[in-house]
Amino acid sequence: MAGAFFKEATEVREIAEDIIDKYHPHLQDAKDVIGYYFREGASDWAGKAKKCTAFERYVTGKMLFVFINAEAWNAMKHEQRVALVDHELCHFSRKSFKDVDPETKEWITIYEDKNESDSWSIREHDVEEFSDVIKRHGLWDTGIEKFAAAVREADYQMSLDDIEREEKRVLRAVK
Ligand SMILES: [Zn+2]
Repeated sequence: MAGAFFKEATEVREIAEDIIDKYHPHLQDAKDVIGYYFREGASDWAGKAKKCTAFERYVTGKMLFVFINAEAWNAMKHEQRVALVDHELCHFSRKSFKDVDPETKEWITIYEDKNESDSWSIREHDVEEFSDVIKRHGLWDTGIEKFAAAVREADYQMSLDDIEREEKRVLRAVK
C-alpha cells in the first residue's frame, strides 16, 4: 500500500535553529511553535512550509510546520540542506510594529504574539520564473534583477545549470 509517513526531524530542527539565530529575528522567540517533520514517500516537492490549521494547532501545539521529503534530503549535500531549510523559514511572516525602546530611545521592532494565529502568514516567493525564459530573455523583470544581485552577493553560488542538474538528480531520487 502506498502511503505517506511522517516523523519528527530533529536534524532539520538543529539546522533551522542555527539559521534562525543568524537570519530570522522574527522567529527567535518562536522556535518552540515550529514543528519539523520528515515525509517518507513520494511527493513533488523537497520542502514545504505551512501555517497550521486550528485542528493541527490543537493536536500538536505548534503554529507552523516545515515538511521535508526524506529521500530528497538524503540526496542533498549539507549546503543544499541548509539552503532548503532557510528557504522554508523565509515563507514564515510575522506581524510586527515599530516602537521606541524606553531605555535606549531607539526604534525597535516588536513582534505580535507567537501563540496568536493571526500573527502569522505565509510569504510567497520574491521571484518566480522559468529558467528557459531567463536563458532566452535574460533578467527582463526588476524582481529577477534583484534576485541576480542577491546571487552575486551570496558567499556560495550555484549556477543555473548546477541547479537544474541538481533538481533532476533530486527528482530522480524522489521518484
Ligand atoms: Zn518556497
